[in-house]
Amino acid sequence: SRPLPTLGNPKNTIEVLNKYKFVFQKKFGQNFLIDEHVLGKIIRSAEITENDFVVEIGPGIGTLTQYLASSAREVAAIEIDDALIPILEDTLSVYDNVTVIHEDVLKVDLCKLAQEKNDGRPIKVVANLPYYITTPIIMGLFENHVPVESITIMVQKEVADRMKTGPGSKDYGALSLAVQYYAKPELVANVPPNCFMPRPRVGSAVIRLTRHEAPPVQAADEKLMFQLIRASFNQRRKTLVNGLGNAPELHISKEVTTAVLEEMGLPATIRGEALTLEQFAELSNRIGEKRA
Ligand code: SAM
Repeated sequence: SRPLPTLGNPKNTIEVLNKYKFVFQKKFGQNFLIDEHVLGKIIRSAEITENDFVVEIGPGIGTLTQYLASSAREVAAIEIDDALIPILEDTLSVYDNVTVIHEDVLKVDLCKLAQEKNDGRPIKVVANLPYYITTPIIMGLFENHVPVESITIMVQKEVADRMKTGPGSKDYGALSLAVQYYAKPELVANVPPNCFMPRPRVGSAVIRLTRHEAPPVQAADEKLMFQLIRASFNQRRKTLVNGLGNAPELHISKEVTTAVLEEMGLPATIRGEALTLEQFAELSNRIGEKRA
């Protein structure tokens, strides 16, 4: 069996930071985990087994990486900060199943990585994410069709709420619909600021997104559906008819949208934020037919 983690508490974290005179970089969203219970919870909810290839985004000093390495078959950890690379070499030296990739995660071809390291089979993604790029990371995983089985991530509490919510909530938006189209979101734990060093100013939450085997709704043209979703939430306070009419790249007249809403039994004054995922799928199918 593999070595047990040594990081994950304040004392050992401070020791490593001092040894390397590490200076936190705000621009990289660096808040390192110092709570063993939270780390254990992440590993358990991600259901990591010795068959798994896991991608970790932003390993920091390697805390969560040690936990992953002791349970998974293999781990690839992608870190952007030059200053952390020698630290990771040190803190992960006892593990023979970890590769550190020194790169911006948004520039890494994760499809290729899954192909090389896991024969193209679905991978697990686990991370305490840098909060400034949470949405591009998640949308990139889904839209680039990276083969993922599940994504277990620490995010800002408010973002976790946005992923889980439906119509009628102020948090409902394009991220909610995209996440729910591709995956089933489940809240794993709320995590207070004192579990991190330095403490973030916002509350955090661990959320697990389990990829659907097939989408829960039938959209004949996925791209069109997401264009409609984005256009209607870009102009949140406008009616759907005006919101879509004002998006020049879509070329959808107010008459077409009004006619489609009537066919669907919805009022012409409805706002996009009132529509469910199912209704957005139907809307895009009907608009697609009329445009064809
Ligand atoms: N996993 C560590 C932990 O839990 O203690 C660190 C988490 S910290 C919230 C986020 C990490 O992501 C930092 O190490 C930061 O340098 C790294 N990071 C920020 N932007 C990144 C990017 N574009 N690509 C890869 N890593 C990034």
